[in-house]
Amino acid sequence: MAILEAVPSDAPRRRLRALSPATRKPIGEFDCASADDVRAAVERARKAQTGWAELGFDERARHLWRLLDQFVHHQDEIVDAVVAETGKARAEAISMEVFAPCDALTYYAKHAGKILAPEKKRIHGMMGLMKKLKIVWEPLGVVGLITPWNGPVALTVVPLAQALMAGNAVVHKPSEVTPFSALLVKRFCEDAGLPPDLYEVVQGDGETGAALVEADVDKISFTGSVATGRKVAEACGRRLIPCTLELGGKDAMIVCADADLDRAADGALIGSCMNTGHYCCGTERIYVVEEVYDTFLKKVMDRAQKLRQGDEGEFDVGAVFWDKQMDIIEDHIEDARAKGARILMGGRRNPNLDGLFYEPTVVTDVTHDMKLMRDETFGPIVAIQKVADEDEAIALANDSDYGLNGNVWTRDSHKGFQIAERIHTGAVCVNDMAITYGLPEAPFGGRKSSGIGKVNGEMGLKGYCHPKPISMDRRGKGPIQGGYPYTRKGEAGMQRVIKLLYGTRLGRWLA
Ligand code: NAD
Repeated sequence: MAILEAVPSDAPRRRLRALSPATRKPIGEFDCASADDVRAAVERARKAQTGWAELGFDERARHLWRLLDQFVHHQDEIVDAVVAETGKARAEAISMEVFAPCDALTYYAKHAGKILAPEKKRIHGMMGLMKKLKIVWEPLGVVGLITPWNGPVALTVVPLAQALMAGNAVVHKPSEVTPFSALLVKRFCEDAGLPPDLYEVVQGDGETGAALVEADVDKISFTGSVATGRKVAEACGRRLIPCTLELGGKDAMIVCADADLDRAADGALIGSCMNTGHYCCGTERIYVVEEVYDTFLKKVMDRAQKLRQGDEGEFDVGAVFWDKQMDIIEDHIEDARAKGARILMGGRRNPNLDGLFYEPTVVTDVTHDMKLMRDETFGPIVAIQKVADEDEAIALANDSDYGLNGNVWTRDSHKGFQIAERIHTGAVCVNDMAITYGLPEAPFGGRKSSGIGKVNGEMGLKGYCHPKPISMDRRGKGPIQGGYPYTRKGEAGMQRVIKLLYGTRLGRWLA
């Protein structure tokens, strides 16, 4: 049974019903916004943006602090909404959907004013004697935000906090799989006293998302799959608007012989199964050097067998959030099984639970001709491959179309850095996994098919702005250097300057 159903309706808009993936019970219905609805939302947001940009950083930050209060005071409401939509474990809803948004609101409310303060730049060489330069970071206007279903609140609030602090308005198209938590964020914005139309939510599926890209927005901030990201990038290219694309991943974990194997086994489990494996920086491939392979595998199995899966009370691994993802997980495991992989545990739907539950699974004897090691699986799967040494592990880690994140486990921090440098991904963690997105000091973004552009921190924040250089002549009076009329004498003078400045060692030093 699908967890998203079309509802017959006389209304001009398509209506969808969402079901909980854990209980399969309906959790609500919503109308898909039409292209006209989207354009109207963008117009309203544009009107709200002007006054918002004029407020300045301190006042905008005050609004964000009040929004933060909403998150702190309504923690249970957020967790309940996200758990109903996704079936994830409550602990994951708290850490990902409450803690991470709170931390992002705090960071950007505190630091955006400093990061985006006008910058005076020293101009090099002779020009510096005549000109001054200042760079001001202007808001872009209205940002179109399109988000996926795996972190519905976090992946909304982290970019929202940045776009708002930079002085923009935001029109948001949440995933059709998790359509309601964005409405909660909108309510919090209203209750925190943000201008009513500054953050607009347009619900719907891909059609509504495509309409948002075509509406009069000034940038698209997209998080989702590679296939959709490509379509979004093509449309943004045609419209000549910037976009950031945070796309899928196939993160590799490398376990060196000198790793703390207990910590690495814990990391393998949480890295692979956290958020039911629906994490862009989730660990999808594990390469273990043969020296410690058997010991590591035993430690992983001991831990994996203790994992509790469920839909109520205390449990570790929740539901698969979407039936379409279940199809992919099953396809990858069956493909691996058929090609000779050994399924040591799991490898099937949980027969004891009614909802969409795939058992935490440990697979070995995997190879790179299996979908499990090449395409994004996005499920609670621990896939382990034995390798001869670290060089082979690095080569296999890099043998991927994806390049989001990766992790290395070793007691030797120097070696950890060296291996990290050799992995072709946007980011790498040493003795840790998946944390980079949560560190605003780190520019986050994928390489290869995993995305374009950087989000978060200084680079991400600046991506919501136009850096406008304002140059000024120091004198501002008298004749303009190099102006009309052109004369032979002027030409000869310029050529002498070029020779002196760029043709002599002293000149080059001065320039
Ligand atoms: P998806 O691409 O199917 O959908 C993402 C969003 O795009 C949804 O809101 C969807 O309705 C919308 N959409 C669909 N078609 C569209 C179109 N033609 N134009 C505009 N919008 C359209 O992705 P998903 O299945 O929701 O999310 C899972 C993917 O997201 C995984 O690949 C995961 O790795 C990735 N992801 C990446 C990051 C990151 O930071 N790199 C973070 C979280 C998730």
